[in-house]
Amino acid sequence: MRKTWKMRMLLLLVLAALVLSACSPGGGKRKEINVTSDSLYVQKVENLPDDFIMGMDASCVPALEASGVKYYDFDGTEKDVYEILSDNGINYIRVRIWNDPFDANGNGYGGGNCDIENAIAIGKRATEYGMKLLVNFHYSDFWADPGKQMVPKAWKGMSTDEKAEAIYAYTKDCLQQLKKAGVDVGMVQIGNETNGALCGESSAALGGWKKIMQLISAGSKAVREVCPDALVAVHFANPENAESYASYGKNLDYYGVDYDVFASSYYPYWHGTLDNLAQVLDKIATTYNKKVMVAETSYAYTPNDTDFNGNTIGEGANVVKDYPMTVQGQANLVRDVIDTVANKTANGIGVFYWEGTWISVGTNSWEENSAKWEKYGSGWASSYAAGYDPNDAGKYYGGCAVDNQAFFDEKGHALESLKVFGLVHKGNAVENKADAVEDVNLICDINGEVFLPDLVNAVMLDNSKQQIAVQWEEVDIEALKAQGIGQYTIKGTAGGMEATCYLSLVYYNYLQNWSFEEGDAGWAATALKKFDQLYVEDKVTDSITGTKHYHFWGASANSVEFTLEQEVENLASDTYSYEISIMGGDCGETEIYAYIKVNGQIVATAETLVTVYNEWHTARIESFDYHEGDTLVVGIYVKCNGANAWGKIDDAKLNVVTE
Ligand code: CA
Repeated sequence: MRKTWKMRMLLLLVLAALVLSACSPGGGKRKEINVTSDSLYVQKVENLPDDFIMGMDASCVPALEASGVKYYDFDGTEKDVYEILSDNGINYIRVRIWNDPFDANGNGYGGGNCDIENAIAIGKRATEYGMKLLVNFHYSDFWADPGKQMVPKAWKGMSTDEKAEAIYAYTKDCLQQLKKAGVDVGMVQIGNETNGALCGESSAALGGWKKIMQLISAGSKAVREVCPDALVAVHFANPENAESYASYGKNLDYYGVDYDVFASSYYPYWHGTLDNLAQVLDKIATTYNKKVMVAETSYAYTPNDTDFNGNTIGEGANVVKDYPMTVQGQANLVRDVIDTVANKTANGIGVFYWEGTWISVGTNSWEENSAKWEKYGSGWASSYAAGYDPNDAGKYYGGCAVDNQAFFDEKGHALESLKVFGLVHKGNAVENKADAVEDVNLICDINGEVFLPDLVNAVMLDNSKQQIAVQWEEVDIEALKAQGIGQYTIKGTAGGMEATCYLSLVYYNYLQNWSFEEGDAGWAATALKKFDQLYVEDKVTDSITGTKHYHFWGASANSVEFTLEQEVENLASDTYSYEISIMGGDCGETEIYAYIKVNGQIVATAETLVTVYNEWHTARIESFDYHEGDTLVVGIYVKCNGANAWGKIDDAKLNVVTE
């Protein structure tokens, strides 16, 4: 359902009345944005209200600046990054607040050391450049997300009633401080990604939802008293789970929580399709007559890491094939999220991008950066967080995992994609051309003919998919064949870009779908115990050939036991070899073997093992005789006693043994 003209007029009138007060909602009066681009394609988003919220979470900036980071406008001028954001159409800044992100000696936990002082400093700068502030209370001393919602140190041991009182008082105090500093608070978020937990309370416990809702209500009450004109937002993650979202909406309603905006995270590599997002948000909006928005989204402009700390998405990991990891791909994703919230759901008010200003603190070395992360809190976590968060930060503290998803390059120069926020109102047409070229994975019989393709798949600037001509470098196929079986890389050019063909020369393989590129076609997996994950995964970095492999994982000890097998049909009598490869970790004691079953009986096995990530082991049965008419099944048996046992299986081969 679309927002009606009448509703929009009403909203504008309300906004006009509120424009002068200290706390007010909406994107506010849109300042004259004068953004132009010769190279960025932006499809216009229809029906986009002038006050649509174009938000940016930029919570880490002060810590980054302390670490020496500088930001530059498109002409190379060093500028206040909040001014650059404002100039490009951002009208709202989001900032997270942790109660006390410091250890007993005053060392910051990292992630920007985002306390109330940090929020005030950012809020003042946002206000100076005409942007509103979304205050995002985590009600924790460090990161709160679906994985953890730890109670602040000072509130440990409190009853739910006492916590509610503490949240009320803390929220009130913080908002009063922001107000006093002249910050234009437009919206306040009560809790961050509160999927069934908040401030140490969990919905898994008896009466848990009631307690969580009591805490949210306490925060909301404080907002209404201090900033009566600001919007109250609640925030959840994992919209791909529609049932959970329905239950969040229901619980908020049942416990009478006073809120205005139901906000969702939307990370395209984890959170399902945009159509699904639209459906779940629309349902909340229309069932409960609430505003909805995306509170966090992001996408990579490059697969490369820029700060010596690995990233959450990168080459091969969680690639969303609809969008290449390019500056244009990043802009197209943002444009499509805006379109979804503006046009595909009722009452959509805006989109916030997450930490689009979080970039590398240096390009020299890990050691140099690490010293800054520790000293200024500019990495995701410092070692000082270990006392509060021993299991996550305590083990994995370090730098930034999203520097390749920022709108500034590793040296702080604004990327063209930042202009999407300013250009999306009117659209920006540029000549369409290829933006990214898909790699070619070619698997050929070493004794057969090899043809390199004339066309490759390309993603165009406008995000359409087209096939374009490719010119491969001169390559002597016979010489490659003489080198034997294996994978060979052939480079070429297509649409002015580099193209890559991965040519695998193999012995003729009698198995169907032997490297799982067609999903589980031909294969039957049988879980002999109830464990967590057993499926074909699409992740090039974890595959031997192609991009897919069979993946398994079991959280609890002794849970992983399964077979994966294929029945082979129409095979001629001959002598054959069979092999299959596996890698994995945390498996504990294992029993893993490849097997041949003839007429239902196992006639040959070959044992193997797993060691560590990316160390593949091949179980190989050197030879067995097959007679036409017998049924033949090839497979692998895997049993692990370790907790969190995981692994990957790839490249099953059934070849004739040549004399
Ligand atoms: Ca990184």
